[in-house]
Amino acid sequence: QMYQQMEELATTDGLTGLVNHRQFQELFDVGLKSAARYQRNYALILCDIDHFKSVNDTYGHPVGDAVLKRISSVLKRSARDTDIVARYGGEEFAILMDETDAKGAEVIAERIRNLIKEELFHSDIGSFRCSMSFGIAVFPLHASLKTELVVAADDGLYQAKRAGRDCVVLARRHTARKKAG
Ligand code: GH3
Ligand code: MG
Ligand code: MG
Repeated sequence: QMYQQMEELATTDGLTGLVNHRQFQELFDVGLKSAARYQRNYALILCDIDHFKSVNDTYGHPVGDAVLKRISSVLKRSARDTDIVARYGGEEFAILMDETDAKGAEVIAERIRNLIKEELFHSDIGSFRCSMSFGIAVFPLHASLKTELVVAADDGLYQAKRAGRDCVVLARRHTARKKAG
């Protein structure tokens, strides 16, 4: 039981209970290998809370933490049992979806985007809402390597932010390769 407890500490994020960055990398490796072997699609969604710094600045860090927790639970609830939901960084999350193509991932990201916007957050100085931006990359459509898929999804996320946030952007085809020349 103690071993199980230690394992959990090492693989989950303390604040949100989601898979942590390190465990995400490991599960991504395993999932991608299996998808390649059995010729399945494998989708990665990277998403990031919009203007989260101003949430902290306006309502305080503890309220920001509560937002992270609630958004994590929305992500977890929206995902299928087989999906992996991870805290990728501070206010950035990653979702891995086996047997999911670009169209399917887009539908799921749009659904999550709308669910997040419905959430009402509370603080001493009033209530507020949040939005998120999404980038999607799919194996093997956009890239084959894990690192390239992350670059491609991140590029989609960057485009989503540039387009004004609160939207979903699919990676361009072969983003990673194009970047390399
Ligand atoms: P953008 O729409 O471009 O994503 O803007 P942003 O403000 O969300 O992005 P930025 O990277 O400027 O700020 C991210 C903020 O997230 C800054 C950091 O303090 C906050 N943050 C990161 N981790 C945590 C955390 O665990 N708790 C809280 N409360 N804030 C956190
Ligand atoms: Mg942000
Ligand atoms: Mg960020």
